[in-house]
Amino acid sequence: MTGTLIRGAQVITMDAATGSTPVSRDIRIDGGVFTEIGTDLPAQVGDEVIDGTGMLVTPGFVNAHTHSWEYLYKGRYDNMPLELWMLYAYPILGGTPTSPDIVRLRTLMFAMESMKNGVTTLVDDVLETPGQDLDQLAAVAGAYESIGIRANVSGHVINRPFVDTLPFVADWLPDDLVRQVRAQPVLSADEYLDYSRTAFERHHGAAGGRVRYMLAPSGPQRCTDDLLVGATELAAEYDAEVHIHVLETKTQAVTGDELYGGQTLVEHLDGIGAMSERTTFAHGIWVTDEDIERIARRGTSVSHNAISNLKLGSGVLPWRRYHDAGVNLGLGTDGCSSSDTPRLMEVMKTAALLHKVTEPDLTRWSTVDEVLRAATIGGARSAVLDGSVGSIEVGKRADLVMFDTETLAFLPTNRLENHLVYSENGSSIVRVMVDGVTTVLDGRLTLIDEDAVIASFRAEMPGIREEQDRLDRVNDAFAPAFSRMYEQASGMPTAVNRWTGDERTWVHQPV
Ligand SMILES: [Zn+2]
Repeated sequence: MTGTLIRGAQVITMDAATGSTPVSRDIRIDGGVFTEIGTDLPAQVGDEVIDGTGMLVTPGFVNAHTHSWEYLYKGRYDNMPLELWMLYAYPILGGTPTSPDIVRLRTLMFAMESMKNGVTTLVDDVLETPGQDLDQLAAVAGAYESIGIRANVSGHVINRPFVDTLPFVADWLPDDLVRQVRAQPVLSADEYLDYSRTAFERHHGAAGGRVRYMLAPSGPQRCTDDLLVGATELAAEYDAEVHIHVLETKTQAVTGDELYGGQTLVEHLDGIGAMSERTTFAHGIWVTDEDIERIARRGTSVSHNAISNLKLGSGVLPWRRYHDAGVNLGLGTDGCSSSDTPRLMEVMKTAALLHKVTEPDLTRWSTVDEVLRAATIGGARSAVLDGSVGSIEVGKRADLVMFDTETLAFLPTNRLENHLVYSENGSSIVRVMVDGVTTVLDGRLTLIDEDAVIASFRAEMPGIREEQDRLDRVNDAFAPAFSRMYEQASGMPTAVNRWTGDERTWVHQPV
């Protein structure tokens, strides 16, 4: 295999020596890994030499929390808090399994937009409604193998009846709806762990290690304790990630009181032994100081999904308190319905800005260095991949993004790292490499025929939309009780919000 030599680029290595400060470097890649990083490196026979003049090279970005399922719902909803939005984006009743063909197209579309915008690793918590089967999982894994991106891919599981995972609503819903929801089959812990063992055997380490399986109990309140503990133990066996949604909304903070007799959800997880250094909490907004101490003590990571948290009105993650406690943070877009884009660079900019308004002490504001760390090595650590990606260092897999710094976004070229976070939006990317293979060049994917994928996807979209409209109507039945739950948990005056269907708006009706 011939190598690649990038000459004379500005490089943000994110290693211990130079961190997020750009330095002039040559980079040699061979066999999919960085083999030499220095200055004036000689080309070896057969090397492809890339002129890095005027280029900025960074580690590939790690999207530490997303759901590829939501690609089909991008741009569809607005102005709904999580609990109401989930009714529609992840319909409780009436769902039919998505065919593996559509799953594959959906995943390719999602990966395409991700990778063109600099994401080289996806932590894809794949949540299929009404539940995932091994063929659907294989379609996701296969799509990532073919497009050339790196990914942790889950089996997501909710193994308690959905209405019993939320405070109050079971009492407020019509009996027949509660009966229908409780009658839906849920997996036992053993069934999920067996499924996961099969998934590990089939997909973990596929494509030369690029594709890995991940355990994903949906949330502490949505899963039985034996499943949460079993997933933590199985992850240790395979050195894989366990991905859990924790304390995303105020309603979930109330849930701890309701379900665990006053314990927080984090106390509960810690108490049963379901937190480790392979665990990543998605969101982690409504945490106490003691929760943060526990998270730090266990070496658990948290993925910060700034845009999704704003869009769903969930709240603001306590960025500085996590840093003070030494908790590892990654950045995630969350799904394409709660953020409407898989472009991690938008989350980077938002995370750099958002935490400046949370307190007046400017020494405690979020910094570009912290944001770049979370978008690269922090995300890699949360994905249990920091030994192989997340920084540009000899011996690591060669995942990188190359930006042209002669574009408008990088002019007048003051501090490159500031331009990267605040001024650039992905439009200056000229090359993306994963495992030393160029997967995006001058805005085009190199390993698949993207026009053919887009054409096939467009052809499926009318049928998909018809099904989404039908499911919206079925799940409207839950909306009044879910609105009331949201209002009660948020301390709002009692009223009933009604989803008016075709108009896609909410009407606030006092009761
Ligand atoms: Zn999520």
